[in-house]
Amino acid sequence: MLKGKTAIVTAASRGIGKGVARVLAREGANLVIASRDLERLSKTASEIKSETGAEVVPVQADLTKRADVSKIVETAIRTFGGIDVLVYNTGPPKPGTFLELTEEDWDYAVKLLLMSAVWLTKDVLPHMMKKRGGRIIYITSLTLKRPLPNLTLSNVIRLSIAGLVKTLAYQLAPYNILVNAVLQGYVETERVLEVARDRAAREGRPLEDVLKAMAGEIPLGRMAKPEEIGELVAFLASDKAGYITGSLINIDGGYVQCI
Ligand code: NAD
Repeated sequence: MLKGKTAIVTAASRGIGKGVARVLAREGANLVIASRDLERLSKTASEIKSETGAEVVPVQADLTKRADVSKIVETAIRTFGGIDVLVYNTGPPKPGTFLELTEEDWDYAVKLLLMSAVWLTKDVLPHMMKKRGGRIIYITSLTLKRPLPNLTLSNVIRLSIAGLVKTLAYQLAPYNILVNAVLQGYVETERVLEVARDRAAREGRPLEDVLKAMAGEIPLGRMAKPEEIGELVAFLASDKAGYITGSLINIDGGYVQCI
């Protein structure tokens, strides 16, 4: 489905980003994957390469640092000569109530959740515009539609990505650059364990009980696998999704019930 395409996937050393990278590689894309931890990222790159035969280039980058973000796109251009797909994913923001968060927490989260998306988009656009085509897919969160009590930073800052999607879809349509966001619910990753541990501590309950309760809140009765998010992203990146732009797409087992 993606043979001959070049894709960037950020925050991809583990979790959702890794699952997405794996599926794109299976579908034939060349990949640049980025994350802070070079050792783990390089391991992920070799694992995906040997599993799929795809070209997978790791780039160490902290998404809260402008210069690091530039490195990601430069590497893709230097290695593959162009970029067809940007899959933006980030590290999770700190959990906490409004009263618990400091101004430094807010500054950091704005860089992590918003500015990294702006920077990456700015860097890929000239290359996509030159080709007159491209796909930008922002991986965000169900909190964009259903704020969760203890995820203040996510609830507030991720809404800006909805604005970005709607604005860019309009502005970039003449260049055949399609822009969408994926709003995943709970996915089996280390992040979800962190959220569950936090909830267990606050509610004074065992972790196992909280994990069971979280799965029980989902109509399908289970969390997603990272690769299930990857399958949706691969579709959005493919020629089959040529009429989808400006969409915020839920993939949450039925969890978010608003229309
Ligand atoms: P994870 O903790 O398993 O993986 C996070 C990845 O982000 C890792 O590769 C890590 O190295 C990287 N990372 C962290 N900070 C970074 C930084 N500053 N610069 C570059 N890379 C960085 O998390 P996950 O569950 O895969 O979540 C990915 C995103 O999806 C997060 O933003 C998370 O909040 C969001 N999300 C997750 C779930 C879920 O249930 N897992 C649900 C909704 C939203």
